Amino acid sequence: MKTPTFPRGVHPHDAKDATMDKPIVILPPPEKVVIPLHQHFGTPAEPLVKKGEEVLLGQKIGQGKTLFSANVHASVSGKVLAVEDYNHPGGYPVTAVSIANDGQDRLSPDLKPAADPFSLSADEIRDRVREAGVVGLGGAAFPTAVKLAPPKDKPIDTLIINGCECEPMLTADYRLMVENPLDVLRGAELVRIASGAIKVIVAVEDNKLRAAEMMRRHLDGIHADIVLLKTKYPQGAEKNLISALLRREVPRGGLPFDVGVLVQNVGTAKAIWEAVSLGKPLVERVITVAGSGIGEPKNLLVRIGTLFQDAVNFCGGLAEDINLVVMGGPMMGLAQWSLDTPIIKGTSGILAWRTAFPAAEYPCIRCGRCVDHCPMGLLPTLLAKFVQREMWPEAEKWGVLDCVECGCCQYACPSRIPLVHWMRLGKNKIAQAKRKKTA
Ligand code: SF4
Ligand code: SF4
Repeated sequence: MKTPTFPRGVHPHDAKDATMDKPIVILPPPEKVVIPLHQHFGTPAEPLVKKGEEVLLGQKIGQGKTLFSANVHASVSGKVLAVEDYNHPGGYPVTAVSIANDGQDRLSPDLKPAADPFSLSADEIRDRVREAGVVGLGGAAFPTAVKLAPPKDKPIDTLIINGCECEPMLTADYRLMVENPLDVLRGAELVRIASGAIKVIVAVEDNKLRAAEMMRRHLDGIHADIVLLKTKYPQGAEKNLISALLRREVPRGGLPFDVGVLVQNVGTAKAIWEAVSLGKPLVERVITVAGSGIGEPKNLLVRIGTLFQDAVNFCGGLAEDINLVVMGGPMMGLAQWSLDTPIIKGTSGILAWRTAFPAAEYPCIRCGRCVDHCPMGLLPTLLAKFVQREMWPEAEKWGVLDCVECGCCQYACPSRIPLVHWMRLGKNKIAQAKRKKTA
């Protein structure tokens, strides 16, 4: 029997006009940064500094002690004000190192450039990436060094550099591709060397033709195919991207490794280039600040640990009748209750709206739209019911852990049911139960 096909994913207006043509502006380093020790997938880093100590720009201030962790570095030079719990964009307090910026950007002597980055071995590239605390900048903040070390029995044949940026309103990756195509491609080449991939594909959605053109123009001897994909949400989700480009299906509960693929975001590729060639730790990133509630939307290069408030002030401030502030894109972003929260490695944007989607929720009318649009082929309405009734084994059996939290179901739902909230809750509860069992 033929597998039924679904109009999977959704087609929201991309709403990128406000910042697409705005070059990246450097946000002057703020007077204070607050750098959480947990801003990546895995275990928190352990603090290496104490209140009152002087630190240098790029100095390691948090040590990732396990494989699934990441080092954390000072993004300014100055004095440590505190090592204590602070607001985190995830919505819970996290131990963070607050630093008073002395405005001098005194560099740590630990930063060691490589004379010829392309002559380094795979292990040397991975070590430099690990030491620099590089994590996936597409939002998931997965430690990059782990991704660069595929299991021996699962060789990588294809590297995909993800330039889709399918979330509406965000243009940070687009600007990176337009303004720094060579750094992105050089980073891609290092990932290819480290992972052993044979083929490199740079995937760009067809609403970013200029970015694709800039990448193509700067190939400069680097072998990569620049491939245009249809603009669709969530085109940039790893499993969707692999399916769209290679017609390979990542198995349920599996990873791209399982089908011989490695996916890296364009921002991560640039960070890898800087980590390996310059020895530069991940202390800054590009974000988009936009939305009807922002005075002057911009793309900014910001130091990690800059408070949302400082970035928003630089962009003309918030409108008075603000309704919603989100970190990330409008589909997957996390709602924020305060601007006294630091920008972390996984912050792709700060969005603010004067009017938000209506909050009223209505009963499910069993229209099936959430099912039709789920890119993972799940039954969101059924999963939400399992979670609401705390039927954890059933929720797991029917695939709640495969949910990528893309928000398509919620976007398509005419009853405005917060389906993503129920998916996240289900995933967290099941993960918690598993951790308890193995503890
Ligand atoms: S159930 Fe998860 S993967 Fe499916 S559409 Fe909803 S958020 Fe996306
Ligand atoms: S889209 Fe909303 S109303 Fe329709 S079946 Fe899914 S949960 Fe119910």
